Amino acid sequence: MRGDSFVPDYPNADVRVSPNTGERRGKGPVDILLLHYTGMKDGPSAEDWLCDPQSDVSCHYIVHEDGSIVQMAPESRRAWHAGKSFWKGETDINSRSIGIEIVNGGHDFGMPDFPEAQIAAVIALARDVSRRNTIQQERVLAHSDVAPGRKLDPGEKFPWKVLAEAGVGHWVPPSPVSRGRFLALGDRGQPVEALQSMLALYGYGTDVTGDFDEKTATRVAAFQRHFRPSRVDGVADSSTIETLHGLLAALPRYAV
Ligand SMILES: [Zn+2]
Repeated sequence: MRGDSFVPDYPNADVRVSPNTGERRGKGPVDILLLHYTGMKDGPSAEDWLCDPQSDVSCHYIVHEDGSIVQMAPESRRAWHAGKSFWKGETDINSRSIGIEIVNGGHDFGMPDFPEAQIAAVIALARDVSRRNTIQQERVLAHSDVAPGRKLDPGEKFPWKVLAEAGVGHWVPPSPVSRGRFLALGDRGQPVEALQSMLALYGYGTDVTGDFDEKTATRVAAFQRHFRPSRVDGVADSSTIETLHGLLAALPRYAV
């Protein structure tokens, strides 16, 4: 089923309407750009699924491997891509975000590389969306950032560094992985509290309890998947903690 067509917000996009959208809710601005991988066997199946009224999912844009882009929902509409999620106190991420699905099989299909043409298209689209909606770069997020434990996409192979070099997203070079002190599941006390406070300050949905529990480990893994992808193990080693420090220090003043 196809609804009424619309003029694409991004001039280089083709349009295929998804029926799975609604009105945005609340008063907050659209100020998050959420990146996903499709996690299906190929692009056409993913595109069909996102337009299938049975699926109850959609996004604003899908970026195929060859860099071609299809817009499925006007940016003014609320697309259904984030699900149960949290970032910096906000729980209705769908109402506050633009969603981009990037065609990639992901963890279930062998973690293929993202082709260069596709990443170039994502960068150009992300710049355009950010400019049009006043999205600050520290609010260009992974689905796994806002739904840790539940979602892994766009995954640790997604080239956030390449995006950052093109001005998209917030990034500092990760501190090198080395031996040394670390915090892990079962640890307790002030250092764990400090870690949880830093994760929460950056935006992750974390309770500051001083207990390094499963929930904390999934937040640490989500952080690593985005910002220190060479090792994603949920252990807060010194590289992880230093990288988190570096990101917080690099935040613009208004964002702290
Ligand atoms: Zn996703």
